[in-house]
Amino acid sequence: MEGDIGEQFRYQFDIPHKSPVQPIKLDGNSKIQFNCHTNVSCFNECCKQADLTLTPYDILKLKDHLGMTSAEFLKKHTVPFQIDGQGLPGVKMRTTNDEPVCLLMDPEKGCTVYESRPSACRYYPVGLMSMKAFKANSPEQHYFIVKEDHCQGHCEDNYLTVDEYREQQGVAEYDEFNWPWYQLVLKKKSTGPTIGNPSEMSLDFFFMCSYDVDRLRKFITSPNFRTVYDLEDDFYNTLVEDDYELVKFGFRLCAQVLFGDKTIPLVNDAYEKRYEERKEIIDAKFKLAEELAKQHDPNAKFIDE
Ligand code: SF4
Ligand code: SF4
Repeated sequence: MEGDIGEQFRYQFDIPHKSPVQPIKLDGNSKIQFNCHTNVSCFNECCKQADLTLTPYDILKLKDHLGMTSAEFLKKHTVPFQIDGQGLPGVKMRTTNDEPVCLLMDPEKGCTVYESRPSACRYYPVGLMSMKAFKANSPEQHYFIVKEDHCQGHCEDNYLTVDEYREQQGVAEYDEFNWPWYQLVLKKKSTGPTIGNPSEMSLDFFFMCSYDVDRLRKFITSPNFRTVYDLEDDFYNTLVEDDYELVKFGFRLCAQVLFGDKTIPLVNDAYEKRYEERKEIIDAKFKLAEELAKQHDPNAKFIDE
């Protein structure tokens, strides 16, 4: 369905005219016509054209299913991409070298990780869209339909609401877990380039908290972590033992470190003590950054000038 609403939708979400995305914003009660089962003539076609962005929960579920560490999974099954124009790191599912065929697809049996398949596979052909209205406090969730020529599921005589489809596909636990992360991504996108390009270190921190739980564990068990963050012993021990709780904590850590959302208590005077311990190194780093900036722009001014 085209027309004014469709045009506004395309414009609002930057959808190209040839895109298979249908320009209609759906909610949970919207009816869709769709069914997918092993007898459809297009069985596995979508997995041969996979362009899957992975969420933090997808990575935890898949690496557990495959019995891998997060580092092993990231290396073997993902490729990096940029979520936004400022280099916010994302990961996509790796496909075969020449074709966009998912490595986890078996030509005969279909998906080899079906119980742990990613959120995007569960949702397809419904798309999930988190958006934050101007001046709104929190983002809203909407849906849309993707109609691709290869998918015959749209011709099946089966009608259901988006909410019924979501329940059938078991996406609620994925959405619930990832919700704080979607908010982080939206927050990052909405700050845009106005506060300057993020440093390599902050982007790497976002990557670690989002996708690499083993590295995050090394970070929170490093000797200095608890000299800065004031955590109850029981809570801290849960984080050390439980990947899922640790990644949830990682979202809070990221929000606190990158956006100043203070939800994790700090040890009194932690920053001052840490600064005193590392004063010489920190001052030397600032001096070096100033020198480099001055080489780039000799008229640059600094706070202490
Ligand atoms: S993870 Fe499974 S469902 Fe998703 S594209 Fe790969 S084979 Fe298909
Ligand atoms: S009906 Fe669509 S989703 Fe199902 S196997 Fe075919 S292409 Fe994939």
